[in-house]
Amino acid sequence: MKKLLITLVLIFSVVSKIAIAQVRTPETIVLIKAGRLIDVRAGRILENQGILVSGERIKAVGPFADIQRSAPANIKIVDLSRSTVLPGLADCHTHILLQGDITAADYDEQLLKESIPYRTIRATVAARTGLMNGFTVMRDLETEGAMYADVDVKTAINRGVIPGPRMFVSTRAFSATGMYPLLGYSWELKMPEGVQIVDGADNIRRAVREQVKFGADWIKFYADRRYFIKDGALHSWVNFTAEEMKAMVDEAHRLGRRVAAHAMGWDGIDASLKASVDSIEHGYGLDEGLMDRMVRQGTYWCPTIYVGVYVAEGRAAAGAPIWLAMRDLEAKAFGVAVRKGVKIAYGTDAGGYAWTENQAKEFAYMVRYGMTPMQSIQSATINAADLLEHSSDFGAVEPGQFADIIAVSGDPLRDITELERVRFVMKSGQIYRNDIGR
Ligand SMILES: [Zn+2]
Repeated sequence: MKKLLITLVLIFSVVSKIAIAQVRTPETIVLIKAGRLIDVRAGRILENQGILVSGERIKAVGPFADIQRSAPANIKIVDLSRSTVLPGLADCHTHILLQGDITAADYDEQLLKESIPYRTIRATVAARTGLMNGFTVMRDLETEGAMYADVDVKTAINRGVIPGPRMFVSTRAFSATGMYPLLGYSWELKMPEGVQIVDGADNIRRAVREQVKFGADWIKFYADRRYFIKDGALHSWVNFTAEEMKAMVDEAHRLGRRVAAHAMGWDGIDASLKASVDSIEHGYGLDEGLMDRMVRQGTYWCPTIYVGVYVAEGRAAAGAPIWLAMRDLEAKAFGVAVRKGVKIAYGTDAGGYAWTENQAKEFAYMVRYGMTPMQSIQSATINAADLLEHSSDFGAVEPGQFADIIAVSGDPLRDITELERVRFVMKSGQIYRNDIGR
């Protein structure tokens, strides 16, 4: 009886504390005054708009005067009347646990001389950098040997321990024996692996379950390697058998996870499409036949143009001139893919280059290679949300969506590089950056 009484008292005190906590933190309501607002879904720009934010979500959007009239009196106004406001950006291909790897030596050094805790500390800085540059969403496509540290970074962000984007993580990624770094060391040494090495359909199914168990939101695998040009087209060696790839994608889909395939050459892309992957990463060797298949299957392309440009010269100097050819092939393929209506999601491979480079540099290349500025913005907002299956949560400034909102001073539809100078960042209704008026 005494025990029961103590329990009841304890329950009461816990319940009353929760109640007090709720009373003490009412939902913050703010009204954003947007001089120009990019309506990404309709592909147009609206003027003098009001965005009512309640807690972490957007409650109403419309002409400023109307929204202000319906809002509580004395509401806090965030004045972005001289700015262009748009939804937070999404980068669908990052590596927060990598700090640039132009050469194999750069890569090996990080895996051999940096501990996973050290790399994770640097990853928290990368996550913050991404957010401050306006990227409120990132799909991080594997930790490059840092095991499940991406899940920990995501948890720390979600719990408010560190600032960062909404993370969709893929943990360790897959490749087969002998087909991913670290390579070239004496057989006497037990070297760390940049991915989870797995062979055989049954083992692959088990490994997919293991990654999902430890927090993978996505499954990533390396479909090909050893890129070469034949008859003017980029080809590659495929890393897995058709049976292995099929097992991987099938098991991931069974567990409600989508699959991203690193596929550079025609052969890797072909094999990935046959296995019904959800996104082709890089895809430098895409030809018209493959593009038509992607349109039919609804497969996304994450082109990662800038990283190819960034590493090409360095890798050519280190003895791999193929990177120059791949860079130029992709420049041609991109415009064709846009015309054909291939679904394109913004992805940079940041981490493949140093995090000191702004992830927004990809936009200028997309526009140079054939997209309108609006299309490039859509690739990083509504298209990305569609790929991530969260179209009702982010990707547009609309009622019901998370209040993930950014602003720039100029007009990115006239000069897309404005997105490299983000001045205001709100995520889930919380302001992380506000340089407007400074
Ligand atoms: Zn990558």
